[in-house]
Amino acid sequence: MEAGAGLKTLPDAQGFFGNYGGSFVPEVLNSILKEITDAYMELKDDRDFQTELKSLYRDYVGRPSPVFQASRLSSSLGGAQIYLKREDLNHTGAHKINHCLGEALLAKKMGKKKVIAETGAGQHGVALATAAALLGLECDIYMGEVDIAKEHPNVVRMKILGANVIPVKSGLKTLKEAVDEAFMGYLKDPVNQLYAIGSVVGPHPFPMMVRDFQKIVGEEAREQFMEKTGKLPDNLIACVGGGSNAMGLFTAFLDDKNVDIYGVEPAGIGFKDGEHACTLTLGTPGMIHGFKCYVLQDDKGEPKPVYSVASGLDYPGVGPQHSYLKDIGRVKYECINDKEAIDAFFTLSRVEGIIPALESAHAVAYAIKLAPKLSRDKTILINLSGRGDKDVDYIVENYGKNYGI
Ligand SMILES: *Cc1c(COP(=O)(O)O)cnc(C)c1O
Repeated sequence: MEAGAGLKTLPDAQGFFGNYGGSFVPEVLNSILKEITDAYMELKDDRDFQTELKSLYRDYVGRPSPVFQASRLSSSLGGAQIYLKREDLNHTGAHKINHCLGEALLAKKMGKKKVIAETGAGQHGVALATAAALLGLECDIYMGEVDIAKEHPNVVRMKILGANVIPVKSGLKTLKEAVDEAFMGYLKDPVNQLYAIGSVVGPHPFPMMVRDFQKIVGEEAREQFMEKTGKLPDNLIACVGGGSNAMGLFTAFLDDKNVDIYGVEPAGIGFKDGEHACTLTLGTPGMIHGFKCYVLQDDKGEPKPVYSVASGLDYPGVGPQHSYLKDIGRVKYECINDKEAIDAFFTLSRVEGIIPALESAHAVAYAIKLAPKLSRDKTILINLSGRGDKDVDYIVENYGKNYGI
């Protein structure tokens, strides 16, 4: 396996991870993306920028997030020891604040007045609105009308934080249309605005940039895990929607050949079109939103409808680096369905007193499957990407009965 060789130096100068990534955008956007790339490449190695970001991570987000040994869960399964990287304890409750702070700080250094983005369930919108408030930037969040009706608490949160929530009325009125309209909004004034993308997706430099802002997760976890156990973890597990929390954990371990790495995709309620979002498992190489990656697509290359109970995971594309890591075999991608994720949601809540986000529950569910197959001296480190506060009402209403509520 060629895995390991130079993995940390990717992408190349054009933003490619093997055959994936790149930048396929209208001509007018090329110069804008180049401006962002140039500014980022300069700030990436700038001491002041990095010092400022590090101190925000520490004093505002509450980093480093702890690594917790889930002893009761592990002994109930009778196999490998399970550990959790607690991104759920971050300010705003998930890993997204890591890249939103990075993107907002970049916008500020570039002299932009406003950050803009799309949001599906509202998690990225809330994290970006938070970062914008902190740094004194305006913030426009494009959100489908269907999602606005569904995700009331997050809509209100964004407004409290001072962001403009712009309703998107076209098409199915959900995430895909929100991305399209946010892009158009961006094109209207690229001089004063910066598009702050929500995951390791989109045209170059976003997949690289968002990964770089998230890789603190794995860098901390590597050190914390060594300190706790004297060894590296034998297995890593993270859920994959666009793939940012997974790249955040995985990056620091890509060159460690003895660490097995698993990304977990949402199998929803079945494997027919529109029932799942297993992009890497069931998709084919293609193009979406200006970059190449695995895509769940029809014969014409149009994205297919996707579904998961975890709205943060239902995207018909996926980060280009994940697409590459799949092809070279460095990361294995597995599927967990709604039912398994909801079971894991309750198991972690009741055995460890930690209510996970439904997205993170997919990673926990895979650990619950894997651990009993491994001996007790093996270890599993899960990225617990977020907390479940946002999901509790929905879960109780729809599934409470099955769990005695
Ligand atoms: C948004 C979200 C995800 C999915 O996004 P990735 O870019 O795949 O990490 C996962 N977990 C939580 C808690 C989220 O809010």
